[in-house]
Amino acid sequence: MEKQSHIAIVPSPGMGHLIPLVEFAKRLNNKHNISATFVIPNDGPLSISQKAFLDSLPNGLNYIILPPVNFDDLPKDTQIETRISLMVTRSLDSLREAFKSLVVETNMVALFIDLFGTDAFDVAIEFGVPSYVFFPSTAMSLSFTFYLPKLDQMVSCEYRDLPEPVQIPGCLPVHGQDLIDPVQDRKNDAYKWMLHNAKRYMMAKGIVVNTFKELESDALKALLEDEPGKPRVYPVGPLIQTSLCSDVEGLDCLRWLDGQSCGSVLFISFGSGGTLSTNQLNELAMGLELSEQRFLWVVRSPNDQPNATFFDSHGHKDPLVFLPKGFLERTQGKGFVIPSWAPQAQILSHNSTGGFLTHCGWNSILETIVHGVPIIAWPLYAEQKMNALYLTEGVKVALRPAIGENGIVGYLEIARVVRGLLKGEEGKAIRSRIRDLKDAAATVLGEDGCSTKTLEQLASKLKNKI
Ligand code: UDP
Repeated sequence: MEKQSHIAIVPSPGMGHLIPLVEFAKRLNNKHNISATFVIPNDGPLSISQKAFLDSLPNGLNYIILPPVNFDDLPKDTQIETRISLMVTRSLDSLREAFKSLVVETNMVALFIDLFGTDAFDVAIEFGVPSYVFFPSTAMSLSFTFYLPKLDQMVSCEYRDLPEPVQIPGCLPVHGQDLIDPVQDRKNDAYKWMLHNAKRYMMAKGIVVNTFKELESDALKALLEDEPGKPRVYPVGPLIQTSLCSDVEGLDCLRWLDGQSCGSVLFISFGSGGTLSTNQLNELAMGLELSEQRFLWVVRSPNDQPNATFFDSHGHKDPLVFLPKGFLERTQGKGFVIPSWAPQAQILSHNSTGGFLTHCGWNSILETIVHGVPIIAWPLYAEQKMNALYLTEGVKVALRPAIGENGIVGYLEIARVVRGLLKGEEGKAIRSRIRDLKDAAATVLGEDGCSTKTLEQLASKLKNKI
C-alpha cells in the first residue's frame, strides 16, 4: 500500500502567514488525508504566539525549526520583504538537509511556500518534488504580482509618481502610492525581491489563494483565465483561524464580552504586526472615549514604524502605560483593553461584537467576513491600502476615516466613524452587505461549495502527482 501523501510547507515569518497555512494544512489533513511538515526558517527564537501555535498542531501536522540565519550584515532599516526573502534564501542548505530526511521518511508530493519564499523551489526541483505557492492575501494582490514584471518593463518612474492609477487586470484602478509597500521605492532591495519572487511564481505548479468568488469575482476571473506559462490558480478561501485560545488574558476579555449587549462592541486590532505612533495612539484613545461606544482594544506600545511588531507581537514594554492619563479609569466599564495579543477569532464570532476597526490584514478581513462583522478600515502597511480600497469602494463593507493634513487620523474623525458604524445608517447598510458575504462564505465552504471542490481537485492532483 502506498504511504500517506505528505507535503512540506515553508512559511515566511509572521503569524499572518502561519495561521492560514496551518488552516490549509489542517484541511488537507482532515479531509484528504495529506499530512504536512512545516519547515520554519527564522533568524532567532520564535515569538511566544508562534511557538504556542506550532505546539498545538494536531496529529498529522509536524514542524521542524531550521537553524537561525544570521542578519548581522543587514542595515537596520532593511525592509521586511527583504528580510523574509533572505531568511528563506539563507536557509536553503538547511532546508536541503530537512528535505533529504523528509523524502526518505514520507511520500512527499509537494512543497508549498508563501509569498516571498520562491528560492526554496530550487530545493524542491533537486528532489523532483513539485512546488506550489500558498498566497495568503487577495486575488487583487496576486493579480498585481502577476502584473508587476510587465509594469516594471512599461514604467520607468516610481509608481507613486504616475499621473494615472495603475490598472491591474480584473481590479479597481489603484493609485501608485496605494500599491503594496515593497514597490514604493524601486531602488530599494525590497522591490528587487518582490520582482524576483513575482517572476518565479511562474515556476509554480499551482497557486492557492485564500479568497472566494463572491468576494473577488472580477480579480479571480482575470486570474483564472488561461495564459501560456501561467500556473493554475486555486481559490480555496476563506480559510480562517479555528484554533481556540486558552490563555487567561484572552478568557478575561471574552468574559467581559459576555456581559455586553448584542452588537454593541467595537473590536480594535492592528493584526500581529501593526503599531501606531504615540500621537496616533492618543488620538485613537480620545476618539474612542468621545464616541461613547463600547470597545475592546488590543493595545501595543507605540512606534513610528507601522509594522514594528511584525516579528514579535508581544513586544517588551507594558503598552498600557502609553495610554492617555486617566483614560482607563474614565472608560472603565465601557471599554476593555488587552495588551499585545487577543483571541481575535473568538472575539469576532462573539455576538456582542458589532464592528471591527482593523489594519486590513487579509486574515482579519476574512475572519470578520465569515462572522459578518462590519469594518472600519485603517490600513498600515504591506498590501493593506489596496485591501482597504477594495473593502470601501469594491464590496463596500467598510468605512474609512480620513487622514488629516498632519498624517494623523484625528479624534473627532475617529469618533464620527465609530458612531457611524455602530449606530448610523451607513453602518446598517454595511452590516447588511457583509451579512450577504458571510452567507456566501458559508456556501463556498459547504460540502458542494466552490472552495471545497477546488481543494478537492488540488488534493487529487497532489495525491496522484499530476
Ligand atoms: N491575531 C490574533 N490576535 C491578535 C492579533 C492577531 O489572533 O491579537 C490573528 C488574527 O486573528 C489573524 C492574524 O493574527 O488571523 C493576523 O493576520 P492578518 O492577515 O490580519 O494581519 P498581519 O498580522 O499579517 O498583518
